[in-house]
Amino acid sequence: MGQTLQRRLIQLVVLPVAYFLGAKASLAFAMPPDVLVMLWLPNSLLLAALLHYRLRDYGYFAAMIIVAEIAADHATFSVLEATLFGAINLIEVTLAYLLLRRWRFDPRFLVPGDIAKFLLAGPGIAALVAACLAAAVYTQARGSQSAYLDLVRVWWFSDATGLLIFTPLILGLWAVPPRFEERLPLRWFDAAVGLAAVLVLALFFMAENAVFRAIHIRPVLLFPFVIYAAARLTPPAATAVVATFAAVVLFVTRNGQQPFGDLSPSETVRQVQQLVLLMTVTSLGLSALLAQLRANTRELESRVQERTAELRLANERLQQLTITDPLTELPNRRALHALMQREIERSHRHRHNLSVIMFDLDRFKQVNDRYGHAAGDAVLRHVAEVAAAAVRGTDTVARYGGEEFVIVAPETDVNKALQQAERVRLAIAASPTQYEQQSLAITASFGVATLSAQDTDPEALVRRADAALYAAKAAGRNCVVVDPSCAPHA
Ligand code: GH3
Ligand code: MG
Ligand code: MG
Repeated sequence: MGQTLQRRLIQLVVLPVAYFLGAKASLAFAMPPDVLVMLWLPNSLLLAALLHYRLRDYGYFAAMIIVAEIAADHATFSVLEATLFGAINLIEVTLAYLLLRRWRFDPRFLVPGDIAKFLLAGPGIAALVAACLAAAVYTQARGSQSAYLDLVRVWWFSDATGLLIFTPLILGLWAVPPRFEERLPLRWFDAAVGLAAVLVLALFFMAENAVFRAIHIRPVLLFPFVIYAAARLTPPAATAVVATFAAVVLFVTRNGQQPFGDLSPSETVRQVQQLVLLMTVTSLGLSALLAQLRANTRELESRVQERTAELRLANERLQQLTITDPLTELPNRRALHALMQREIERSHRHRHNLSVIMFDLDRFKQVNDRYGHAAGDAVLRHVAEVAAAAVRGTDTVARYGGEEFVIVAPETDVNKALQQAERVRLAIAASPTQYEQQSLAITASFGVATLSAQDTDPEALVRRADAALYAAKAAGRNCVVVDPSCAPHA
């Protein structure tokens, strides 16, 4: 079905029929002899419709509502009176709607501010204006037995309560899709409380003059359940509970059971209205407050989670920084030490070879002296890249300090380590650094040492490689020397 057709159908057929039924029900619960309506339902329907559809098709909508009012009232009031009452109801809901729109009211009733806006616009201002108009019509047309101000009060309270209790309910059931994340899981305790509420309601039906077999059954007994429902349910569901309680109180009152004790009809009406008004305000206010509290808690939790993740990332980055050389981005000496300790242990356990190759750039000081420190840095970065690319995937190149580097080669015997060192030496010699349109050639000298059964200390192994490196420098640089204690096997 098209959107427009559906809207027309609801506005022109469903709403007037529902309005008619609501008016009939409200009149059925009126107190004689002045037809004092305790709770006026239909205006809440109109206000919910206005808030939902805004002012679309307002003319048709208004005409149909007047027709429905005449149809509902014809047994009680004349056509002129019914037309005036229908118009007054339209004025009430339209005024409330316009005020709410002006105040940017959110019809989900999720924050206390929206409830305050609603209370003021609907039950406060609009219902009072309508009550003044209607009481005037009433006294003029009927010569009513009740005083004008008394009529205003009854009309005002019945409209106010009706608006307050049913507008959020209708909007909640109809317009706003249920938000599951706000629903709390039901527990057995909720079921017990629900059962107790049903029991209390049943006692109302059985009581006369607020007493059942010497037990006092006062409507104030309903308050704990109202509060519990507001705390445990979504705002619309909590309002539905209040609506049910109101219906029961209305029913037993109209039934002559005097739930407030032996009072005059007008005093009874006053008591009913006060009770329902208080229950509704309590329920709406509390459930909105709690919904806001839950939303705030959720937001806080997600923010804490976010911060924790950020901190973890920052920690990881810091951790990374402590083991990385900032210039070459190779593992630094601290990381090298830890790696060698692990590898030495592993090699001893599995009886595997482990070799280290140490190399130092040749006459590197001249690069600094001739081209500047920045050029020296560029050479260091470039050599680091070349060396890292020349070794195998299982080997690690680390910056030992200054212009000295160490390659850790697991599962590598001295012969293979020698070949490896040669390969890196040739790669460095063949790849000058391009720096500011200049080509800076550099070579390096290499010392190789292999783990022996007695070695446990990384530094001792490095020292042997360093000694071999020193020999390579002495032998004229740009060459590889193997630590004599582990001379290459033929
Ligand atoms: P040899 O062949 O005997 O090793 O000669 P060399 O000039 O390389 O030896 P020496 O130890 O005298 O000089 C090393 C130089 O490395 C001295 C120092 O200024 C330079 N150096 C150390 N660390 C850095 C660095 O991070 N950046 C730059 N640009 N130079 C560095
Ligand atoms: Mg050097
Ligand atoms: Mg040096």
